[in-house]
Formats: sequence, C-alpha cells, structure tokens
Amino acid sequence: MADSSQDLIKPEKLLAVANIKLNENQNFFRKMKSVNPNKLDVIVHQLHAEVFTYTDCIVCANCCKTISPAMRNRDVERIASALRLKPSDVVSKYMHLDEDSDYVFKSSPCPFLEQDNRCKVYEDRPKACREYPHTDRRKFYQLLDITLKNTTVCPAVFAIVEKMKSRNG
Ligand code: SF4
Ligand code: SF4
Repeated sequence: MADSSQDLIKPEKLLAVANIKLNENQNFFRKMKSVNPNKLDVIVHQLHAEVFTYTDCIVCANCCKTISPAMRNRDVERIASALRLKPSDVVSKYMHLDEDSDYVFKSSPCPFLEQDNRCKVYEDRPKACREYPHTDRRKFYQLLDITLKNTTVCPAVFAIVEKMKSRNG
C-alpha cells in the first residue's frame, strides 16, 4: 500500500531538515555507487512511482521557486515562441549565462511561475524542468550527486532517499 503524503516535508522546512541529513545521505550514496546500476534504477524508479502518487507539484513548486533549470538554445527558442518574443529578447529579459555556458534565469522564483504555482510556459518548458527531479531517469548512478543536492530542494526526492535508506540500508 502506498504511504500517505504525511511523508512529505513541507517545502519551507525542507532545507533545514535535509541539511541535517546531508552527511548521512552522502555516505549512503557512496555505498549506492557499488550497487549494480540496473538494480539501482529499479529501486529508484519504484520509489519515484510510489512517492509521486501522493506528491502534488502544484501545491509545492519549490523547484520553480528556488532553483533555475540549466537551459540550451532549444529551450530558449521554445520559450520565445510560446511568448511570441525573439529568443534574444527572452535571454536579455530573463536569463544570463552561468559558468558552464548554460542559460539560467536571472531571478528566483522563476519568472514564468504564476501566482497559483502553474507554469506560464508549461507546454514549452525547458527540458530540465520536464526531467526534474530526475528520479525516473535511467543510469541513476550518474545522478547521485545532483540527487543529494535535490534532497534539499524537492520534498519528493527527500522522501525517496529516506525510503531507499530504510529499505536498502
Ligand atoms: S519554466 Fe515553468 S517549470 Fe520551469 S522553473 Fe519556470 S515555472 Fe517551473
Ligand atoms: S518536483 Fe519536487 S520540488 Fe518540484 S514541485 Fe514537484 S515535489 Fe516540489
């Protein structure tokens, strides 16, 4: 039987709670590096499916409020087309380049996050937004570092990692 949404830490409390567990989670992920990659994918994908049965991203929106997706030209072009703007205007108004030469939003929360937590460019949102929080992606062993970081941002990721520890510790 799926657990209830009681598992989920409120977004406003998550950073403090997740920071306390950061070392423990880091050590756990070190151990996970030796697990067979296919087996690790099965474990994480099952927990992703379980936790997202009761996670409501519209209520949370903590990723859109606190971190920026890394965006490429294709993402900018899609957003520009949705907004009927030139890509160069989208960049100058909303973005800058980060140290990896990816576009990131200048401001936080995301400029396209609306009052009701919906995304103004949802159908054309960046690839990184579509894929976040990456816990249903293949080759999860490559995503352990980013997932550790995401335990401080995403209540669902935090819950997934807590369940991984209790079932596979
Ligand atoms: S583009 Fe949409 S999905 Fe992506 S961060 Fe902004 S509001 Fe969230
Ligand atoms: S992906 Fe995670 S952080 Fe983003 S809205 Fe959903 S639960 Fe919240």
